[in-house]
Amino acid sequence: MLSTFALDSQVLKKDLCTSCGACQGMCPYWGNWNGRTVWLFDCDRKEGRCQAFCPRMPYDKTALRAKFFDPADTDPDVGPCKGLYLVRSADPADRDGAQHGGTVTALLKLALAEGLIDAAVLNHMNGDDPEGFLAASAEDVMACRGSSFRIAPTLAKLNEALKADEYKKIAVVGTACKTLATYKMLAKPYPDRDNNADNIALVIGLFCGWGLDWDGLKELAAKYVPLDEIAHMDIPPSKYHSLVIRRKDGSEVSIDLDEVIPLVRPACKACDDMTAEFADISVGSGRSADGWDVDKGWNELIVRSEKGAKLLQLAKEKGILEFKDMPEGGLDKLKRAAAGKRNKAVRE
Ligand SMILES: Cc1cc2nc3c(=O)[nH]c(=O)nc-3n(C[C@H](O)[C@H](O)[C@H](O)COP(=O)(O)OP(=O)(O)OC[C@H]3O[C@@H](n4cnc5c(N)ncnc54)[C@H](O)[C@@H]3O)c2cc1C
Repeated sequence: MLSTFALDSQVLKKDLCTSCGACQGMCPYWGNWNGRTVWLFDCDRKEGRCQAFCPRMPYDKTALRAKFFDPADTDPDVGPCKGLYLVRSADPADRDGAQHGGTVTALLKLALAEGLIDAAVLNHMNGDDPEGFLAASAEDVMACRGSSFRIAPTLAKLNEALKADEYKKIAVVGTACKTLATYKMLAKPYPDRDNNADNIALVIGLFCGWGLDWDGLKELAAKYVPLDEIAHMDIPPSKYHSLVIRRKDGSEVSIDLDEVIPLVRPACKACDDMTAEFADISVGSGRSADGWDVDKGWNELIVRSEKGAKLLQLAKEKGILEFKDMPEGGLDKLKRAAAGKRNKAVRE
């Protein structure tokens, strides 16, 4: 289909689409097929919310940041940062089945219980397939624990929920592409067609190295572990150079990262944001001197906004999260990792 529509020519055709879903759920033109964003019908608009929300379309980062964050907090490597913490959920039930320390799960449950949010757009595994999910209870949040390295268009679910206008305080969880798109929505580029963006109440970012091609990853993983025996997958910090698969019986197998790198999606290679800079709070794996065996049960957490600071303070007061001292040089280490991803993206 020949088109002047920029989203197609500048993003889809250039293999830069992250499949975040920000362009979906608002009109009949964009949809999803087998994990890929597809343009279903021709559209002759030269502009539209789909283009304006897409995290891969050009935007003025300084202006968008200034609209939502205190410039005094901004660090060139990790973005707005009011503080960096090492935390995990105080509830072992959250940690069990979570990706790392269960911090995201614990914060979402707290925000729901306190009425700060009334729903959250999360990732849910439907068998092998990840899908966007609107969680409205603690049980729903628990059912969505863990990380999906295959990216589902969860923001399509957000757009549908905003349009329906049933939930007025929605949290969004996602990697950098998804949280950037969410702030583009919050900026209301077309104020008369804002899709109830004010109903977005909280944004939690996930640190992200990259997402993976699922068919390729399944094929690779199956060489080592039957797929129905896999309980969990994770990628430890770069010095371990591995993808670790944990079986349901608790045993682990380590795959050399050289076998995984070819499966990184082209769209992720162009991403320069490891820590999800557009978010109230961003969360990744713990990085301390204790080694991965300990760190994988903890999270590093960046507070970026006043809203994020208040939520973390509440979690502290109510004993929802456990805190551990951040080792000296912790922020510098994270900054180096974030700068590494940025430099790689620039080279790409
Ligand atoms: C593709 C990907 C790459 C990542 N790469 C890194 C990395 O390089 N370094 C690092 O430190 N951390 C990385 N993370 C973040 C890490 O895996 C954990 O999500 C984070 O540490 C929070 O852990 P937790 O135990 O608090 O999460 P949980 O308590 O298990 O909660 C995680 C929440 O995230 C939601 N979620 C999971 N996957 C997705 C997704 N694809 N899109 C939107 N929401 C999702 C879940 O529904 C759940 O609500 C990555 C995450 C993803 C999804």
